[in-house]
Amino acid sequence: MVLREPVRSALLDGGRWWNQAFEAIGYKNAFQVKMLPDDADPLDVRYNVIQWVHRCTRGWSYGASVADPRTGEIIKGHVSLGSLRIRQDFLIAQALMNKPFEERDDNYQPMLDLALARIRQLSAHEIGHTLGFSHNFAASTNGRASVMDYPHPQFSVKNGEIDFSNAYDTGIGEWDKVIVAYAYSDFPEGTNERDALNEILEKATSDGLRYISDQDAGPQGGAHMYAHLWDNGQSISSELLDMLKVRETAIANFSIDNIRTNEANSVLEDVFAPLYFFHRYQTEAATKVIGGLDYNYSVKGDGQLTVAPVDKRTQDQTLKAILLTLDANEIAIPKDKLSLFPPRAIGFGSTRESFNGKTGVSFDALSAPETAADMTLGLLLHPRKGFKIDTAKGHGSKQYWFGRSFG
Ligand SMILES: [Zn+2]
Repeated sequence: MVLREPVRSALLDGGRWWNQAFEAIGYKNAFQVKMLPDDADPLDVRYNVIQWVHRCTRGWSYGASVADPRTGEIIKGHVSLGSLRIRQDFLIAQALMNKPFEERDDNYQPMLDLALARIRQLSAHEIGHTLGFSHNFAASTNGRASVMDYPHPQFSVKNGEIDFSNAYDTGIGEWDKVIVAYAYSDFPEGTNERDALNEILEKATSDGLRYISDQDAGPQGGAHMYAHLWDNGQSISSELLDMLKVRETAIANFSIDNIRTNEANSVLEDVFAPLYFFHRYQTEAATKVIGGLDYNYSVKGDGQLTVAPVDKRTQDQTLKAILLTLDANEIAIPKDKLSLFPPRAIGFGSTRESFNGKTGVSFDALSAPETAADMTLGLLLHPRKGFKIDTAKGHGSKQYWFGRSFG
């Protein structure tokens, strides 16, 4: 199937962001992204390819490489991007906008703009993998320093409506420039390459940039206080509070005008789901701060912090924010919204993306908060954290910590 505009240009633009990083180390316009010639075979090893894939469900996109096993040199990059990403961001925007279809049904541009902003980022991200780069899940706490993080759209409330203007970043990040410089720099003859490479990393550290990848970032086993998936902000707890405000505003505004004329009323429930669970990833991030650690992939002599538990004040603040996600005032679906959700029409049954329910065909107003609360508690009290009570040494008082701590 032909990839149509405006998605095609968004993918090309996002891929081209990397040129900013290559120009920064002196390669002028050397990194280019173009349409594949009609007669080229996508499997031809001479072409790095971005493939647009249609699937029947939402799923991961991939950035893979063919490398020379003898040297590790990357010969060909191959990216697969799933088209359902467009639908997901479109749906988020549709849910968060204030009465988008009140006056006209073709008011889809703001949703499309959000989806395109996301797909530019995704294109850059997957191409980043083909260049040899791994995730940096700490980048969002460094002012969106890398396209190799998972970005969550960042919204704010302005005049009682949701402002989309800062939803996604729009270019290559500071960390991305560091990794391109590290992996692709050509140093002048006579340079001590080891020293020159170390200098790149030392500068990144002194600029305050962090690099923390997959094993430390997931909500189940990860422990790092700054590395999370789909989070925002330098302070995880204050971003969570902001998100709850965004969510509350959007839910208050939510109405039948979040779908188009002649769309099945049952569809409104599907539009509501991503709004209802809007805070889920930031909540995941916050639970990792409780009993969490700060650390670096440090080496002897580099001066970086080795490892330390998150300070108590930060944990207290974060716990307060997390407890709001269990508060009925936050997670109960407001009574006046329940009349928006009828039993689903024939042909519009539940899918794995729908709310769970225990009340047969009728909308189950209690199962949604149950799912949300389950998520918060399941992560907050995850067995890997354990509960450990330490007696602080030296000053006689007892300190109670969730999880990993140092005696
Ligand atoms: Zn990735």
